[in-house]
Amino acid sequence: MIFFKYFAFSSVFILFFSGYAVANERIPVFVSIAPQKHFVQQIGKDLVDVQVMVPAGANPHIVEPKPRQMAALSKTRLYFAIGVPFEDVWLAKIAAANPKMKIVHTDHGIDKIQMEAHHHHEDEHVHHGDEKAHNDDDQALHDDDREQEHKDHESHAEDEHAEDSARDPHIWLAPSLVKLQARTIREALQTSDPGHKVDYAANYTKFAMDIDRLDSDLRKVFAGKQGLRFMVFHPSWGYFAKAYNLKQVPIEIEGKNPKPAQLKELIEHARENKIRIVFVQPQFSSRSAKLIAREIGGQVAFADPLAEDWMDNLQMVARKFKMALK
Ligand code: ZN
Repeated sequence: MIFFKYFAFSSVFILFFSGYAVANERIPVFVSIAPQKHFVQQIGKDLVDVQVMVPAGANPHIVEPKPRQMAALSKTRLYFAIGVPFEDVWLAKIAAANPKMKIVHTDHGIDKIQMEAHHHHEDEHVHHGDEKAHNDDDQALHDDDREQEHKDHESHAEDEHAEDSARDPHIWLAPSLVKLQARTIREALQTSDPGHKVDYAANYTKFAMDIDRLDSDLRKVFAGKQGLRFMVFHPSWGYFAKAYNLKQVPIEIEGKNPKPAQLKELIEHARENKIRIVFVQPQFSSRSAKLIAREIGGQVAFADPLAEDWMDNLQMVARKFKMALK
């Protein structure tokens, strides 16, 4: 009898406390950009609590973490880096904010392609001599100035970009590459929380299937469109274009706004190819895109590479690109 009482009591006790633990001990995780939040949530579900370092609308080429984010890092168990340029400057400081936090590089094992420059200007590459000085400028920006800087920061984005112009960081925009990143995320979560290994494996399998389905949907969207081109201000869509055999025509040249002569050439190129839509993203100024659109009698459209609802967003962007392909 006493045994029974004890047994009943302890199982209630265990049930109560394990329920409590699940509800309250989500693994605190940080990611650099919003699409990664989607990836980690697909695999971690309600076992993780994900915070994003680069806020919506900010530019991952130049953003700086806020003091409250640096404070939140002290409670974070995992940081998923992806190789966006602000990490070059900040990752060491992020790591120092919490030596116990594990930094996981989700670009691990991914072969990065060259950042795309406009094909008319391959021999006109700009001087890289003053990169360092500009970098220091970026760091010295005051908090208050930053929002404004993002809106019309062209000179800063240009300089940051020049630094990593060799390799294209936008690896989250091709489904096959996201599958590789998802595997790295799964392994990190399993190592950090071995008690839920099976859950992470099952969630990963489901997510990988969703990614495959997205990829085959997009193949259908672009069937018969091989080699056609779309025009964008910032060349975020290199991996996407590569995956579906499209051509991205960037307006930015080596991370810089085009000079008047180059702009003229872009306008001619657009006219020759009957391009009518110029894509921009909310994180970059669209001044030269608007100018080109006006000159070709076309229009500017949005394609956001940093939306958090990654899967729906890629479906939507794909359809916009398809309409614009020439
Ligand atoms: Zn970019």
